Amino acid sequence: EKMILNGKIVVRSDISVDVEDRGYQFGDGIYEVIRVYNGRLFTATEHLSRLLESAKSIRLDLPFTIEDMESQLNELVRENGLEFGTIYMQCTRGVSPRNHAFPAPAVNPVYVAYTKPLLHSQELAKTGVKTILEEDIRWLRCDIKSLNLLGNILAKQKAAEAGCFEALQHRDGMVTEGSSSNVSIVTDGKIKTHPATNLILNGISRQVMLRLCKENGIPYSEEPFTTDELLAADEVFLSGTTIEVLPVIQIDGQAVGDGIPGVVTRKLQKLFRDEVIKQCGP
Ligand code: PLP
Repeated sequence: EKMILNGKIVVRSDISVDVEDRGYQFGDGIYEVIRVYNGRLFTATEHLSRLLESAKSIRLDLPFTIEDMESQLNELVRENGLEFGTIYMQCTRGVSPRNHAFPAPAVNPVYVAYTKPLLHSQELAKTGVKTILEEDIRWLRCDIKSLNLLGNILAKQKAAEAGCFEALQHRDGMVTEGSSSNVSIVTDGKIKTHPATNLILNGISRQVMLRLCKENGIPYSEEPFTTDELLAADEVFLSGTTIEVLPVIQIDGQAVGDGIPGVVTRKLQKLFRDEVIKQCGP
């Protein structure tokens, strides 16, 4: 199995983590997950642009262009014979004696990427998933796709222990996002999702979903909504790279709408699938 290390394709056994890698010690780095369908990267430019944005936000200089990264990721996918799966990539601020302040002078960042097979989960997409409501305890730069995921992890673990798929987080009474997904509601046929502020990650799938709404005349607005609105919504759905559009059928044991995936959600699932096929083939 091949991986990318600092711009070179190597085998896994050639990679090791230094105990003083700042990603390992501080979570001082950023990451992306890109979906591969039919051996093709879906919305690669959007993900790689966001990676560079995240890097900039943490003042990390990356010596790669989007074009270089994309062509090398394509090479990795080919070498690994990956048809359906994901690419995980991360960049840390590098290896340096432990000290909170940035290394001075700066050291080279450590960039790794690897692939993992993943088949489209038809089962969950059909049945929908159960969720819990959870207070959003994360920091105030959730727009950065940073390696610091403790808030997200603690929320997801609570969901897992409740036998649920996802934790829907709320801050000051407003719903922000899932622990690893964006969340939208449908009320009287209209979609509402949290605006792309510092309080959520502006998901690429969220952006694709909103574009599909626009192109297909499905009304939507990017505005915060309360937990009461969430619980009273006709439909609730998640979006994310590995889940596409996923219906939520239960929140804290209470049914969403009729307790089955709603019509608008199912329409969006179909539109999203069509978009994947359009970009990556059937
Ligand atoms: N929000 C969080 C916290 C995430 O970790 C993710 C990742 O999947 C998303 C939203 C969805 O983002 P994307 O659609 O780019 O995968």
